[in-house]
Amino acid sequence: MTSTPRVVIIGAGIVGCALADELTERGWTDVTVLDQGPLFATGGSSSHAPGLVFQTNPSKTMTEFARYTVEKYSALQLDGQWCFRQVGGLEVATTPERWADLHRKQGLATSWGVAAQLVDAEECVRLHPLLDRDRVLGGLHVPTDGLAKALRAGEAQARRAADRGARFVGHTPVLDVEHTGGRVTGVVTPEGVVPADVVVSCAGFWGQQVGRQVGLTVPLLPMAHQYARTGVVPGLTNDEALEASKPVLRHQDADLYYREHVDRVGIGYYGHRPMPVDIDGVPAPGEARTMPSMLDFSAEDFDPAWRESVSLLPALGATRVEEGFDGIFSFTPDGQALMGEHRELAGFWVAEAVWVTHSAGVARAMAEWLVEGQPRTDVHECDLHRFEDVQLTPEYVEARSVRSFVEVYDILHPLQPSGVLRDLRVSPFHSRQVALGAVFLESGGWERPHWYEANSRLLDGVALPERDDWSARYWSPVAAAEARATRDAVAMYDMTPLKHLEVSGPGALDLLQRLTTNDLAKSVGAVTYTLLLDEAGGVRSDLTVTRVREEEFQVMANGPLDLDWITRHLPADGSVRVDDVTGGWCCIGLWGPRARDVLQPLTRQDFSHTALKYFRGQEAVVCGVPVRALRLSYVGELGWELYTTADHGQRLWDGLWEAGQEHGIAAGGRSAFNSLRLEKGYRLWGTDMTTEHDPYEAGIGFAVRMGKGDFVGRAALEGRSAESVSRRLACLTLDDPSAVVLGKEPVHVDGRPSGYVTSAGYGYTVGRTVAYAWLPATHAVPGRQVEVEYFGKRLAATVQSEPLVDPEMARIRR
Ligand SMILES: Cc1cc2nc3c(=O)[nH]c(=O)nc-3n(C[C@H](O)[C@H](O)[C@H](O)COP(=O)(O)OP(=O)(O)OC[C@H]3O[C@@H](n4cnc5c(N)ncnc54)[C@H](O)[C@@H]3O)c2cc1C
Repeated sequence: MTSTPRVVIIGAGIVGCALADELTERGWTDVTVLDQGPLFATGGSSSHAPGLVFQTNPSKTMTEFARYTVEKYSALQLDGQWCFRQVGGLEVATTPERWADLHRKQGLATSWGVAAQLVDAEECVRLHPLLDRDRVLGGLHVPTDGLAKALRAGEAQARRAADRGARFVGHTPVLDVEHTGGRVTGVVTPEGVVPADVVVSCAGFWGQQVGRQVGLTVPLLPMAHQYARTGVVPGLTNDEALEASKPVLRHQDADLYYREHVDRVGIGYYGHRPMPVDIDGVPAPGEARTMPSMLDFSAEDFDPAWRESVSLLPALGATRVEEGFDGIFSFTPDGQALMGEHRELAGFWVAEAVWVTHSAGVARAMAEWLVEGQPRTDVHECDLHRFEDVQLTPEYVEARSVRSFVEVYDILHPLQPSGVLRDLRVSPFHSRQVALGAVFLESGGWERPHWYEANSRLLDGVALPERDDWSARYWSPVAAAEARATRDAVAMYDMTPLKHLEVSGPGALDLLQRLTTNDLAKSVGAVTYTLLLDEAGGVRSDLTVTRVREEEFQVMANGPLDLDWITRHLPADGSVRVDDVTGGWCCIGLWGPRARDVLQPLTRQDFSHTALKYFRGQEAVVCGVPVRALRLSYVGELGWELYTTADHGQRLWDGLWEAGQEHGIAAGGRSAFNSLRLEKGYRLWGTDMTTEHDPYEAGIGFAVRMGKGDFVGRAALEGRSAESVSRRLACLTLDDPSAVVLGKEPVHVDGRPSGYVTSAGYGYTVGRTVAYAWLPATHAVPGRQVEVEYFGKRLAATVQSEPLVDPEMARIRR
């Protein structure tokens, strides 16, 4: 018999129990689950969770987690009692904005494979007779949503795990984590040390506290959220076993949700003032008046909720709030869960900030990660290491997590930036950008110009179709002028926020060769587009790597997860180091047919086509400051990325700007950039492709050199090719030049949902919207007619051969 690792799970809430089940099912049976509280009503959030499960989420990953939770808990029972009741979910709209948004949400559900129908007010009332017909404009009905009994589902999974050998121990706090040589060896409890090879913290809102035991920042904030129950409501069932028969209900216009508790109604409220909780002030299980996660009900905060509830569900007027509490659970800066392994302490894992809704899905992905080496679902949005350093400060975690609470039921535009803690990272060009009227959005803490109001002077002759209210948000016609300036003259783009890593040392080449797909064993000055894959051949990231010196590489990456991945693979012999130098450098993308006219007079180095070829780099002095110039272009035009250190940035910007005036130079923002890169077919990792796709499916097989020797993911790619794939990232254009979509919309083929849009934007050069979409390979054929659904409307679209602009590369190579 082969032995499996000894696993200790901290926390017997719904997540810990689900994980024990998933691990033991996969043969890891030496599992001990410890909880500081009694089993299974431990006193954590799961102990009182009302358990509403609404599956649809803007995130495909979260929707898949929820779908699996529904599937799994529907099949579970505890002593003959149900764990999931599929009463359906109904989200009602009481404002035109919400009604429109529910159309968008139905599109999301379709994209992610959840059946959902928009229903009129009459049907809403038929589904949920307590509703006041006159308050409701319509609703979104998801028949497979419903109610999870978190405690029952937890215990049912725990029993299955116990049958396979797992142990569950209550009243046992984990006081510390033991380790030697950078690996966990066990956990310390009052009864002694429990040895472990793997420790998974499923401590819910205590996550920060457990993280402190191992020097790990767990970016979550415990917050209180109000939940109340009414007295008996006329017309509800008195069948205890049935418990609920009407759909779980959301009234997001007023931050409210509802479920039945037999003949009473439970009301959850997110509209009250944010109530962050100091984790160190939470009483231990034995000391809490009720349980640690339940605070006294602050009744006055609930008053608006009650008034609104009686208005929406008039039958409540016959009763009152009989009981309530302020229940604690976790919020994170971006509203997503936290999953992953400590970087400095091998074997210490986290699965926290997880709703009941996603619990089984998260647990399954965690178990795959632990047992098989990686999750099958793309989890980058939930990865513990997705945050930049500045996003791990207590100030950031608190301010942004509070924001997540406030916005939890808001209608959020995909581009909507947070209103709090801005200007955390600005490039050296910031003051110049402000002077040009930059409209900034934020990413990774960086302020990034989306367009520049000063460019409205270039709008003459730009004719654009009218936009609907939604697609007009965070957009300006000025982006078209900036795109035109890039194609016709020259523009400068601030590329500073790109993650800039330096990988150096005698082992640097070997490491990068082993981690990436393309051949990097090239001469100094070579620039290579290459991919990080996981062992299953899924695309973890795409990188642009420049061989700066024999033993030094500049790696332009997608974000902190790339740094994390490379760091984890550093050889133990110290022959390679990796440094994140993003903040110390800056970069201007100078692109357009006049780019050489601007640059050449500012430098003594030769920037002719023959002297510096496409995908080559050279050190140069430009405007009197040292610059690293890489001949690359994300926008499909002649030009260079010009890197310099932050101190020289402003001089470089000013020099280019001044010299560019006679050539019609414009500053360009992300909005124009996105349009140009879509026209050129450049994929955006994390949006267009993830670990769920291989390079051939994603259309980037050209970056794979199977012949170069072994690399991570190579074995999985054996036998695969662009010809053999069953799905493809396809380029579509919308047939109607005035139609616009933004991303994540469903694509219908022959009237059936068959795929979804990844990213989209108006192609100002081609005069219509360009959308990339995942489609079955049989349909991803140029000329194929499809339909993209946008707010309930079907827009005709055509699959195109790509790229749409300059397929011969004549504009770049000159
Ligand atoms: C009022 C309210 C309503 C909610 N409604 C919903 C809903 O409708 N739908 C939904 O999906 N979600 C809902 N949630 C959220 C949901 O309840 C939680 O996200 C979920 O239960 C968290 O599960 P968990 O297992 O991660 O955490 P918990 O259930 O809190 O479990 C963590 C466990 O870790 C233990 N622990 C912590 N530290 C230690 C230690 N050092 N040693 C040993 N044990 C330790 C704790 O005792 C606890 O049992 C609601 C939350 C609240 C408060």
